[in-house]
Amino acid sequence: MTETGDRSQRHRVRMQRKKEIVDAAIARADHTKGLLLVLTGNGKGKSSSAFGMAARALGHGMRVGVAQFIKGRSDTGEEAFFRKQANVVWHVLGEGFTWDTQDLERDTETARQGWAVVQTLLRDPSFDLIVLDELTYPLKFGWLDLNQVLDDLKNRPPMQHVIITGRGAPEALCNAADTVTEMADIKHAFRAGIQAQSGIDL
Ligand code: ATP
Ligand code: MG
Repeated sequence: MTETGDRSQRHRVRMQRKKEIVDAAIARADHTKGLLLVLTGNGKGKSSSAFGMAARALGHGMRVGVAQFIKGRSDTGEEAFFRKQANVVWHVLGEGFTWDTQDLERDTETARQGWAVVQTLLRDPSFDLIVLDELTYPLKFGWLDLNQVLDDLKNRPPMQHVIITGRGAPEALCNAADTVTEMADIKHAFRAGIQAQSGIDL
């Protein structure tokens, strides 16, 4: 056999083996359930990934609830876009970072009232997907009780998906999740002095 023929033959055998492994893994994944996803880490892409999945869900005619916990700005493209969608309920439940409000009692109270709103979503099976954007911060700052949050997540409707975003996700939350992704901050344009830009950052 020529050297090229030999290489193609080896490639075919390798790919055949790979296909058997992939097919077996697909066959093993034989059931569905409502998933808990955590998108954390210091790199960019947590919220935008969550809203990407929200767009996917809407494409399938699913109903989506969004709750934003740390509200830095109200001019984001995602808010403008998703608020126009018939199958989306959008809640703003935070007032900004603690260094903006500078009032611990107020932040705690706002977060608790916010969680009461989330509880109504988590008890409503008509929501197929719930995005809890930047929920890790009220957890990290102790404004919300982690055990209460874990309990409410656990008791949600069995087919309901929940996506939680934010840096520094608590270990217990990651343990409870089905899928956890950590965005790594390799490089970010902001550090080169470039402003946040429409369509990319907001
Ligand atoms: P995105 O909404 O773009 O997916 P994110 O949710 O992963 O970002 P956040 O920590 O919520 O990240 O930050 C929100 C804003 O800060 C976005 O405008 C984002 O582009 C920017 N950002 C994210 N990561 C970094 C970083 N490592 N350095 C500087 N700015 C960042
Ligand atoms: Mg974010």
